[in-house]
Amino acid sequence: MTDGLLGDLYDYETLLSGDERKELVGIRRFLDEEVRPRVNGSWETATFPMDLIPRFAEEGMVGRSYDLEHRPRASRLFTGFISLEASRVDPSMATFLGVHNGLSMGSIVLLGSDEQRARWVPDMVSLQKIGAFALTEPHGGSDVAQGLETTCRREGDEWVVDGAKRWIGNGTFADVVVVFARDVADDQVKTLVVEKGTPGFTATKMEGKYALRTVQNADIVFEGCRVPAENKLAEGNSFRDVNRVLKLTRGGVAWNAVGCQMGAFEAAIAYAKERRQFGRQIAGFQLIQDLLARMAGNVTASLGMAVRVSQLQEEGVFRDEQAALAKAFVTGRARETVALARELFGGNGILLENDVVRYFADAEALYSYEGTREINSLIVGRALTGVSAFV
Ligand SMILES: Cc1cc2nc3c(=O)[nH]c(=O)nc-3n(C[C@H](O)[C@H](O)[C@H](O)COP(=O)(O)OP(=O)(O)OC[C@H]3O[C@@H](n4cnc5c(N)ncnc54)[C@H](O)[C@@H]3O)c2cc1C
Repeated sequence: MTDGLLGDLYDYETLLSGDERKELVGIRRFLDEEVRPRVNGSWETATFPMDLIPRFAEEGMVGRSYDLEHRPRASRLFTGFISLEASRVDPSMATFLGVHNGLSMGSIVLLGSDEQRARWVPDMVSLQKIGAFALTEPHGGSDVAQGLETTCRREGDEWVVDGAKRWIGNGTFADVVVVFARDVADDQVKTLVVEKGTPGFTATKMEGKYALRTVQNADIVFEGCRVPAENKLAEGNSFRDVNRVLKLTRGGVAWNAVGCQMGAFEAAIAYAKERRQFGRQIAGFQLIQDLLARMAGNVTASLGMAVRVSQLQEEGVFRDEQAALAKAFVTGRARETVALARELFGGNGILLENDVVRYFADAEALYSYEGTREINSLIVGRALTGVSAFV
């Protein structure tokens, strides 16, 4: 295999600058050499390889979307390719980074004051502090905008938070949890940063999860949890502000879904060349090549869409429906691609050692988190028709 990606049939990587491509090859090497050997073990035991965390920062995989004092932001295309590379090796690891980098740090960067950014962002870029994003609740998934039940109330120079959150990625070990709670005074959703160890905050690992098993998702309970007033993000004052963050990160999920299907596609090509039946490589069967060509079409269309998402973000003209369409379409294609890859492996496709079953399961989570296909379709449909079908 060359330094380029097997699934990048239209050479989208060549749209990166020479320096970016060189850096990407370094990140690819790191992921292949240091992360890949750990992936299946972590997935099987549903444990997070904590010792790898500082390495992601050292490899420059964190905070690249933001202008920092010591480093200007990288292009959106480059950060998209970083997400692709991480997910191509392990969608769980890409999700860990997406939650930390996009949802959690992104909320602080987009909604925080200069002072708040200075307080949390540097430690998050170096991964000395890990972030989580707590929006979803036991009763509030798709309808969380209307149905958000966690409350906050201002008491002197503190906010008191009560309620529960569910599915919170990195929640068991995060140092900085961005929490959305309804202010009892004005009924608006406020954004608060709750730090690890705050009394009244409890996080419990969700067990029995059979996709993205390495990601530590938590049930979080707030019981009279007192948060200093200065931990309310300056511009986190309504659900519209939450949507500013989600618009950014849904583009990131599209990139992760490209990586997930690319990982499965590459495994399928390798297996097709290696596996022999009827006296020859299965790669030589027309029906196997049909599976590969269908996968290649999905991967290529998905990557093209993700690339255009990044270009629109770069130009500052990215719209909600474009984010929603990319998230829904690419995760749908990923789901199909991983199923085709699984099929190509025959029975061996359900053995973890062959990787493909991990991508197969993980695609299911990508398909549902950060807005299901149905909800993202409603955003697209509203833009197409001018009529909201949300109930
Ligand atoms: C692995 C994983 C990680 C996650 N990480 C986080 C995280 O870090 N932080 C966080 O806050 N959340 C997180 N989530 C939660 C995630 O965002 C929600 O699961 C998602 O928004 C969907 O909500 P739900 O699962 O409650 O489904 P529900 O809202 O209960 O939906 C059930 C079904 O009904 C459909 N449906 C609902 N409303 C409509 C409608 N109006 N019209 C048509 N169909 C509809 C849905 O599309 C879906 O098919 C995570 C989820 C997973 C699976």
